[in-house]
Amino acid sequence: MGKVRVLPEILIRQIAAGEIVERPASVVKELVENSLDAEANRVRVEVSQGGKRSILVADDGTGMSAEDARTAFEHHATSKIRDFEDLEAIRTLGFRGEALPSIAAVSRLRVRTVEREAARGEAPLGTELRIEGGETRSAVEISWPAGTEILVEDLFYNVPARRKFLKTVATEIGHVSRQLTEYALAHPRVEFELRHESRSLIDAPAAGSLEDRVYQLLGESFLENLVPVEQERDGVRVHGFTSLPHEQRSSGRHLHLFVNGRVVRDRVIVHALRQAYRDRIPSSAHPVALLFVEVDPAEVDVNVHPSKIEIRFRDSERVHRAIRHAVEDALVPRSGGLSELAHDLPAGRTTAGDAEAARRGVARSIEKFFERHPDSSLGFPELRRRPAAVSEPPPPPFGSGSEDPHGDGIPETAHLSPIPIVLGQFVESFVVAADREGVMLIDQHVAHERILYDRALREMASERGIAVQRLLVPQTLELTPEQKAVLEPTLERLRENGFEVDWFGERTVAIKGVPQLAAGSAAIPRMLEDILEGLNASGGNGTALERLREKIAISLSCRAAIKINTPLNAEKMRWLVDELFRCENPYTCPHGRPIVLRLGIEEVLRGFHRI
Ligand code: ADP
Ligand code: MG
Repeated sequence: MGKVRVLPEILIRQIAAGEIVERPASVVKELVENSLDAEANRVRVEVSQGGKRSILVADDGTGMSAEDARTAFEHHATSKIRDFEDLEAIRTLGFRGEALPSIAAVSRLRVRTVEREAARGEAPLGTELRIEGGETRSAVEISWPAGTEILVEDLFYNVPARRKFLKTVATEIGHVSRQLTEYALAHPRVEFELRHESRSLIDAPAAGSLEDRVYQLLGESFLENLVPVEQERDGVRVHGFTSLPHEQRSSGRHLHLFVNGRVVRDRVIVHALRQAYRDRIPSSAHPVALLFVEVDPAEVDVNVHPSKIEIRFRDSERVHRAIRHAVEDALVPRSGGLSELAHDLPAGRTTAGDAEAARRGVARSIEKFFERHPDSSLGFPELRRRPAAVSEPPPPPFGSGSEDPHGDGIPETAHLSPIPIVLGQFVESFVVAADREGVMLIDQHVAHERILYDRALREMASERGIAVQRLLVPQTLELTPEQKAVLEPTLERLRENGFEVDWFGERTVAIKGVPQLAAGSAAIPRMLEDILEGLNASGGNGTALERLREKIAISLSCRAAIKINTPLNAEKMRWLVDELFRCENPYTCPHGRPIVLRLGIEEVLRGFHRI
């Protein structure tokens, strides 16, 4: 018998399902797309255990007849396209006819629906189907008022390998929330609701404009730093909102991109956006943007990947140009207020002015150094105080001994401290120190980051827990639905690990206490935001608690560490260096950046042609 075999039907379906259904959020995406394609005015989503236990999507759309409902669960069954021509210009969100059968293949599913025409009757007769692992278990007539409701339970119950890959409740519900937020942004006139267990995460009645919708979902403070974008060029319409240059984020999570009402990830759009910001924000920072691109459907290929989230533009240069211009024009200062803001920015590139300022900074800190050490030729006061007994015989006084006018031999280093001794500070950013091996520059920010990170992790793991400082005045933070979704299941653990956080209204939290290590930092709400975002990002190892502690340690150390361009006195520098070299890994920061730049004694001697 040959080795090549055709796979059993059920296995084929599970494999195909894997491409479309990756996690609860992908189920929500497909079902909500179907509701929107069915012209729903209202979409309600209810989720339990991050969607791992159940996902329910209900709409008031056109519904299905009994026959259509059955056919809809067949593979490649769709009402949205008929022939090749239709495929060339897709106007609906779906068209592949794969979502329903794929979801049904990896879950227990129940659908209740009634065709809109039939629903006009007194007691409309609808249909209820139950499907388990792709097998239809029952099909009955029911009385059903209108629209379609699909309940998906026990996702991946029959694909244990997949189920294992699902993340924590916080992460999964975070993805669901983000997904639905994006659809709600793309369709302001449709009412959206999302509930997780007993908490409402999204409650957005039909809105008159995108601006109202943004306000409903993301809050007033979100809109404050955005400017509207609106432009049409070469048949490409670009509209939405984009951030003023001072509103910079550390990740691209705050970009929401749409093409013809579809939520997409697209390099062309991201690149065009970056180009528009290139002289306005540093290359490591990201703007916040909600960008809607509308083009003739024939100009976009949405049939690139089964999840339909990637797309291809037939003429990507034209789209790129349109987006770049639209965003650039939106950012051009129109009033004095804006241009002043733009001036305050830390520019991404160094201009001639910056270089001049940096030179002045160096000169200033050299001056300061000598003010602090008036008697020091080289700033080695600590070394000079060291008992001479260590070095034998004592070094000859200046000007005696050797014939060689340059001095001979190589400097003695054995008597130097093995522990780095602080010599001073360079440009108010780097601590200059020396030990037996040579001299070094220590980046004061990353050094402090390393110290705080190690301490935070140590304290959280200790029996007493991390030391908490109550804030005199609680600080508040307005959350996005995604952040809210992540916070809810994490709240208890967050409290146990130093962040005393309480709900303060529907989408605001009050921060009442923080780890002592972070107290005094001006960026406490940002710290909490970083933690919530970090938790939602995919990847990462370890248990949920380990991941949370890691995120806390990272955000706390990054936000609370001394910044560069901060003068430090000798005592602070000594503390920093001592603490740093007590860390297990003083040479790289938690993000992998170097902390210490060394110049070894040999390199110094070689540099002066002495060896
Ligand atoms: P596609 O959306 O690509 O057509 P799906 O498998 O998602 O494929 O859905 C199959 C068909 O089922 C759709 O074409 C549509 O006719 C019907 N359908 C699915 N969900 C709904 C809904 N919520 N309301 C009305 N019809 C629906
Ligand atoms: Mg679909």
